[in-house]
Amino acid sequence: MVGHEGIGSQTGLLGVLGHPIAHTLSPRMHNAALKAQGVDMVYLAFDVPPEGLGAAVSGMRALGFRGCNVTIPHKEAIGALLDEVDTMAARIGSVNTVVNEAGRLKGHNTDVSGFIAALRGLRPDGAAGLRCFVAGAGGAARGVVAALQLEGAAEILVVNRTHERAVSLCAQASAWGSAPCVAVPVADGAAAAEGVDLLVNATAIGLTSYFKESALPVDTLNSRHIVMDLVYASGKVTELVREAKARGATAIDGKEMLLMQAAGSYELWTGRPAPVDVMRRSISE
Ligand code: NAP
Repeated sequence: MVGHEGIGSQTGLLGVLGHPIAHTLSPRMHNAALKAQGVDMVYLAFDVPPEGLGAAVSGMRALGFRGCNVTIPHKEAIGALLDEVDTMAARIGSVNTVVNEAGRLKGHNTDVSGFIAALRGLRPDGAAGLRCFVAGAGGAARGVVAALQLEGAAEILVVNRTHERAVSLCAQASAWGSAPCVAVPVADGAAAAEGVDLLVNATAIGLTSYFKESALPVDTLNSRHIVMDLVYASGKVTELVREAKARGATAIDGKEMLLMQAAGSYELWTGRPAPVDVMRRSISE
């Protein structure tokens, strides 16, 4: 976008569909990038409840949107409304980016590449050879486990409040790569975590209730651990990141992954390398 005054009859439409959506940082990141590169598109946020998703997708088709992001609670449901879904999005059953290719809507998942890019920012070799502990078995955890398999992790342990979901995820993930993927009951999580290198919080447990509910063995963290919290909040550090750093671990919250998945979406819509620094500044201000 070239500023409001730059909006014209040819301006391309982008946006994010979610519910709730008020706190999304995506319009900030994308509009800053579009402006910096002089791309004639604009990105808006749309509050779409579950029962309105079909109409929203039809509306996008009718209005010729270039594409959109999709967030909670639509990432799984939107696949069935699209013309095509790419291999990774189909594998993990989750679409976070839609691209309109001459009237055909195609679903992609840039959370996976975003997670990998954020991890490589901490360790250039990514997850290669690492023993990994993933808390959670929802959509985000599925993406994380797929990414760890893609990256050549040595072993993946999955711990989730609802153990059957971890079992089901591991059964599928064993076909996604060569690392053994093992579902560990919450009660055995701390013991199983001994000797792991990378710990990921992919649960929805947020900023405050960490120590009561997290399956992550926070007390045993030390300087050899890498910790990635997928949770983030504007202007705040998560409890997990604070505690992990206090114990000498390398730790980041979900903002870097958010940024890198946005960069992946931007590149799909515009065909240009994303101005990552501009986007990072837009959410750190
Ligand atoms: P989801 O599909 O709803 O899964 C939620 C997960 O959290 C499940 O494993 C669930 O366990 C667990 N959980 C929820 N409340 C819990 C509690 N009180 N105690 C223990 N476990 C609990 O959600 P999602 O899409 O995977 O998202 C998970 C988190 O990742 C969210 O915070 C989301 O904001 C974040 N995320 C961040 C990014 C990023 O770019 N940084 C991208 C995607 C997602 P059960 O199976 O037992 O319900």
